[in-house]
Amino acid sequence: MTFSPPSKQRIEYLELAAATYQKQLQGSPAAEYLTSRGLTQGSAQYFRLGYVESPVSGHERYAGLLAIPYINRQGVVAIRYRCIEGHDCKAIEGHSKYTREPGDKAKIFNILALAKPEKRIAVCEGEFDTMTGWQNGIPTIGAAGAKSWMPIFNRLIRGYDEVVTLADGDDAGLLLADTIAEKNEHAKTRQMPHESDVNSYFLEQGKERLLEYTGF
Ligand SMILES: [Zn+2]
Repeated sequence: MTFSPPSKQRIEYLELAAATYQKQLQGSPAAEYLTSRGLTQGSAQYFRLGYVESPVSGHERYAGLLAIPYINRQGVVAIRYRCIEGHDCKAIEGHSKYTREPGDKAKIFNILALAKPEKRIAVCEGEFDTMTGWQNGIPTIGAAGAKSWMPIFNRLIRGYDEVVTLADGDDAGLLLADTIAEKNEHAKTRQMPHESDVNSYFLEQGKERLLEYTGF
């Protein structure tokens, strides 16, 4: 698999889109949704989250979705979209909770966290757990899942004393942790309690308990 970075034009387009959706967040159903997931306005700003109310040209299909930009030193290199309806996305045929644009390959979410000098870093599955960790002061990067952890990513976490995967509290949650541990001997796994993840644990137990449980 090749990892050609997005072109300058592509990044400019995504920058414009992200900025547009950011402006449409306030007072939107997406803002309400973020609050329900315990994310602060500060986090929404930091991660440049947005709501696709009036899509930029080419993004019509993402109308009504929460926009989650993937940002690296070059700028916005991808935007992923999340359904914020109250229904069970899995129960609807041909519909999925998360949508990514064609050609958007596996990427690390919140990769800028790697620029901070830290001895330990946490890896979460999914953007919401990653944002929750970060909001609570845990240096956190995210992967979309075990299959989204690319061999090339191992190089990025080599310099840490410890890499802790905060695995979801189900069997599938261990897949990402095991994938990372297989190639990184300084990797550890901290699995969240049964049926919970970093976000739900934080919502139920609060910041102090989250830090205590995760050891950060
Ligand atoms: Zn849905």
